[in-house]
Amino acid sequence: MDLVWRNTSGHPVDHLWFHLYLNAFRDKESSYLRERAAEPRGGAEWDSDYPGSLRVNALRREDGTNLWADATRRFECPDDGNTKDATLARVDLAAPVAPGETIALSVDFDSQLPRVLHRTGWAGDPEDPQSLFFMVAQWFPKLAVLGRDGEGLPRWNAHQFHRNTEFFSDYGSYSVTLTVPPGFVVGATGRMAGGPVRLADGRLSTTYVADDVHDFAWTASPHFVEVAFPWTFSSYCAEAPGGIGARVREAAEESARLRGAAAPVPAPEREVLVRLLLQPDHAALADRYRWSVGAALALCAAWYGAYPYPTLTVVDPPAGGTGAGGMEYPTLITVGGDRTAPAYETGLEAVTIHEFAHQYFYGLVGTNEFEQAWLDEGFTSFTDRRVQEIALGAPIARTRYGPIATPRLRPFAPEPVFQRLSHLLRLDALPHPWKRRPTLLPVPAESPLWAYLRDLPPLHFDAFVPSPEPLPTRHSYLASATHDAMDQPGWHFAARTDYRANAYAKPTLMLFALRGMLGEAAFHRAMYGYATRYRFEHPRGADFVSVVREHAAEEARPMVDAFLRAMMESATRLDVAVLGASSARRDDGRHDWTVRVQRRGDLAVAIEVFGEDDAGEVHLLETWRSGGSATTRAVRAVMERPMRCARLGPDWIRHLDADLSNNARVSGGPGDRRPALSLAARLALSVEEVVRSYAGLSR
Ligand SMILES: [Zn+2]
Repeated sequence: MDLVWRNTSGHPVDHLWFHLYLNAFRDKESSYLRERAAEPRGGAEWDSDYPGSLRVNALRREDGTNLWADATRRFECPDDGNTKDATLARVDLAAPVAPGETIALSVDFDSQLPRVLHRTGWAGDPEDPQSLFFMVAQWFPKLAVLGRDGEGLPRWNAHQFHRNTEFFSDYGSYSVTLTVPPGFVVGATGRMAGGPVRLADGRLSTTYVADDVHDFAWTASPHFVEVAFPWTFSSYCAEAPGGIGARVREAAEESARLRGAAAPVPAPEREVLVRLLLQPDHAALADRYRWSVGAALALCAAWYGAYPYPTLTVVDPPAGGTGAGGMEYPTLITVGGDRTAPAYETGLEAVTIHEFAHQYFYGLVGTNEFEQAWLDEGFTSFTDRRVQEIALGAPIARTRYGPIATPRLRPFAPEPVFQRLSHLLRLDALPHPWKRRPTLLPVPAESPLWAYLRDLPPLHFDAFVPSPEPLPTRHSYLASATHDAMDQPGWHFAARTDYRANAYAKPTLMLFALRGMLGEAAFHRAMYGYATRYRFEHPRGADFVSVVREHAAEEARPMVDAFLRAMMESATRLDVAVLGASSARRDDGRHDWTVRVQRRGDLAVAIEVFGEDDAGEVHLLETWRSGGSATTRAVRAVMERPMRCARLGPDWIRHLDADLSNNARVSGGPGDRRPALSLAARLALSVEEVVRSYAGLSR
C-alpha cells in the first residue's frame, strides 16, 4: 500500500498514529473482546479458530528506511492501559514533516479477516470458497486524524478499538485494485476506474477510485445478485410507487421553501449509479431496497446538500453473515433483508434509510465517532425517522408486545428459548455446512405458501403500532436517561444500553425537540447550515450548538443554548407537571384562575400554560421560560368564565417529558368529582406506561 500524507497543521509533525482495527479480533485480550466479554448479549461469538489480525511487515519512507521497527514503532493504549491491545500504534519519523509538506510511505501488510462477528469478516464454509461472502472493512493500517490540542498545536486524535465505538479518520483519495477468484462479484467504495480484467490465472482484477472519503470498504461473493440502476431525483419522484415519489418531492420542495431557496437541492437530473448486491433469496426484496434508499438520497440532499458521489453500493449479507449488516462506509452501506420478517415489517427500509443517512452524518460531516457518537448516530437516527415518516406514510413504531419470543422481552421471555428462534429460522445458529447455500428454506421467496407461513403469529409475535411519535426512541431514552451524559467517549458508558440510549435515542429526541423550539424554517436552515458548513470537516458538538444559535431567534438563544448544553452534558430528565388548577368566582362576576406548574429536572424549556374555560375555549395564560433555580410557578389570570382544566405545552415536549400523565389537570372545587375521575384516568395511564416499559419498547 502506498500512502501519501500532507501536513496541513501549520506545524512540523514528527510522528504518526495508525489504527490497526483488525487486531481487535486477534485474541481475547484485545480491549474490544474484553469489553464484549464483560457484557455478553447473546448472538454471534468470537471464533478462536478464525480470528482476525492486521500484521504490518514494513513501513518504509521513500529512502527505504523501515519505520516499523522497535526503535520507532510502539503500540499505544491511551484509553484503558491494556498493553495487550494492538489496535493503535505510534510511529516516530526520524525527520519531521514540515508544514504543507507531504510524506510518502509504502506499507507492506497482511490482513486476516475474522469469521464475521461484528461488521467485518467472512461468512460461509471455509472449506468451500464458492460458498463465501466477504465484507472487507477496517482492513488496512489507517492513519489517525491530526487534530489540535487546547493551545491549537497539532495533536493526534487516536483511540483504541472499543466495543462501543466506531471510527474516525481523515478525508483523502483512494485508488485500490482488488483481485478476486473467478466468479466473485465485487462491490467497493467509489467508482470502478478499470476492469474487471481477467488475469492469466482466471482471477478478476478491478480498480476502484474514490475522492473526498475517509474510508474504503469492499465486499466480494460469488452469490451476489446485482441490481443496478441510475437514480435521479426526477426519475425517483416520478416512479416511486404508492405515492412515495410525490410525497418525497413535496417534502424536498417544502424544505427548499422553508430555507428560502429557489429550488429543491437535489438537481433533478444529477445521477447516482446505485448497485444493490443481494443474496439470491433476497432478490425479491430489490424494490424495497430501491425505493427506500432512493427516498433517503432525495431527502438527505434536500435537507443537507447534494450527495456528491457518483455511486452508491448497497450490500445485503447472507445468513451467517448478518453481523456485517447495518453498517456505513463511504458510498457503500450494508443492510439486512429478512425473509422471516412479516410482510408489514419495515425493518429493511428502516435500516437501509438509516445507513444511507450516515453518508451525511459520519461521511460528509466527519464527526468523531470515538468521542461524540451522538453526532453521527443521533443525527442519522433523527434523519431516518423523518425519511421513514415521509416515505412510508406513517412512521411505524416497531413496538413488539406480547408474552413471547422477541429479543426485547427479556423480563418475560428466557433468552435461550425464544430469542434465538429468529436466528434459528435464518439458520444462523446451525453448524456451517448448513450455511453453504445462502438460500434459507426451500420455499420460493414470494410464494403464497411462504407468505402464509411467514405471517403466522408463531414466526414473529410482533404487534406493530403505527404512531406519529418516535415511541421506541422515547422509551429507550427514558430507560437510561439518568444514567449518563450524552457527550462523552463511547467506551466510558457503563452499559451498552446506556451507550445506545445516549448515542441514538437522546440526540434523536433532542433534535425533535429542537425542531419544535426553533420552528420548522429556522430548524431547516440550522440543519442545512451545519451540514453544508462542515462538509468534509470534523466538527464537534459545540460547533453544532453555535450554528443553531445563529439560526435561532434572538430572544430564544439563551434558552436554546441552555437546553442543548443540558442535553449534552447532564443526565437529567424532564417532567413538566400541573400541580393544581383552580378557579374562583370574584365579586365582579369574573373568575380568578390559578394554575400551579412544576418543572422537574434541570432541562430549561419554555413551558406553555393553557387553561380551558367551561365553554371549551383554550387560552394561553403564560409562556414560562423556566430555568435557573425556580422549579415551580403559580400562573394567575382573571377570566370571564370558570376554568374547566389546565394543560401544558408545547406539543413537542412530549418527546422528552418523562411523565405525560401529569401534564393536564381538571380544575375543581368541593364536590366536583371530575378531579377524582381525572386522577383515576391518570392512574390507569401510568399502569399502562409501566406495562409498556416492561414490554421493552426499545429496539
Ligand atoms: Zn447508525
